[in-house]
Amino acid sequence: MEAPLQRLLALADAAPPKETAWVAVADPEGRGLATALVSALDLPPWPNSAMDGYALRLADWHGEPLAVSQRIFAGHAPQPLQAGTCARIFTGAPLPEGADCVEMQENAQVLDDGRVTFSEPLRVGQNIRPQGQETRVGEQVMSAGTRLGPIELGLAATLGHARLEVVRKVRVALLSTGDELVEPGLPLGPGQIYNSNRRLLASWLQRLGCEVVDAGILADDLQLTRDCLARLADVDLILSTGGVSVGEADYLGIALREAGELALWKLAIKPGKPLTFGHYRGVPVIGLPGNPASTLVTFGLLTRPYLLRRQGVANVTPLQFSVPAGFDWPKAGTRREYLRARIEDGRVRIYKNQSSGVLRSAAWAEGLVEVREGSTPQQGDNVSFIPLSELLG
Ligand code: AMP
Ligand code: MG
Repeated sequence: MEAPLQRLLALADAAPPKETAWVAVADPEGRGLATALVSALDLPPWPNSAMDGYALRLADWHGEPLAVSQRIFAGHAPQPLQAGTCARIFTGAPLPEGADCVEMQENAQVLDDGRVTFSEPLRVGQNIRPQGQETRVGEQVMSAGTRLGPIELGLAATLGHARLEVVRKVRVALLSTGDELVEPGLPLGPGQIYNSNRRLLASWLQRLGCEVVDAGILADDLQLTRDCLARLADVDLILSTGGVSVGEADYLGIALREAGELALWKLAIKPGKPLTFGHYRGVPVIGLPGNPASTLVTFGLLTRPYLLRRQGVANVTPLQFSVPAGFDWPKAGTRREYLRARIEDGRVRIYKNQSSGVLRSAAWAEGLVEVREGSTPQQGDNVSFIPLSELLG
């Protein structure tokens, strides 16, 4: 599993140079930052109050009430603090020059004459957010290759960036192969099933920030496969499902062999054994097995990281963690299994039917549990769990 992933990532890194574009901060979600983001500001730019309260110079406080000499709201510039007085101050407002302490309003008493006393001991620096506490001018805040999500966009905004340089979206042509496939909404004929992979992958690709070119259903026919590939010249990846199972005429493979290059990888994973990787006129082609749960696993564990890397994302490894098994695994396998699983009462439960054709298993599941080849985890043994939420975004 690690080896095919490393090969795919190496192929992604070697794929045609990544074009970059400056795009509005609201836009680039999911894509990789092309150049490191360096702060041109101190954050906060000036010391400010962390509380609604009173700013004072601690040396002026001897237990005698202090007059309030100014009111400082967020967004307004203060006057230097008059000696022997305090300033009414609100959260986020700049600290006046000369003040070194803020007391929260809950610990302050305002007397009838408007002066203020404090009931609790005070110390220098309290309730003050120092200048540059978060970031200093010149500091690298995000490295190139950072995947931009809501938090990163927010962070870029705190630094004042209206535009970011990102790696452009990858255009993916999506093909569903199989004579048996019918689009939802149409009646089913004898021997036909609905095309689920197309919906699954189109939606998933969009979540990954890819542009989807929907090439629809492709019948199991060599000439149609050739024609279809020839029409898909201007994409960055051709992604197909179906037709790579052992024993079936693999038209995609044949067409790739004729006009490009092909490698058929027998992955030692279950579900999802066969995977096609090739090039058609320079365009990379990935062929995933057609069983929906196999599609899910091979897309999530291999194609997703490949696509993210092509979009300039450096860290493409999903978070996974150890959880005690809530099942007994009967027999050591020769392939690594990815079981659709859920955590209940701190233990991983697996869906009763792990057949690769059963997509309901994944809808029930919260994640994939990894059962390594040669291992037989029993109740309470730690197993590795990858949340589906890690893979889907
Ligand atoms: P294949 O990889 O073409 O041998 O297909 C393996 C199994 O997955 C068969 O049962 C197919 O009918 C099914 N399958 C293939 N493609 C799809 C699809 N797009 N949607 C739902 N099931 C599919
Ligand atoms: Mg098929």
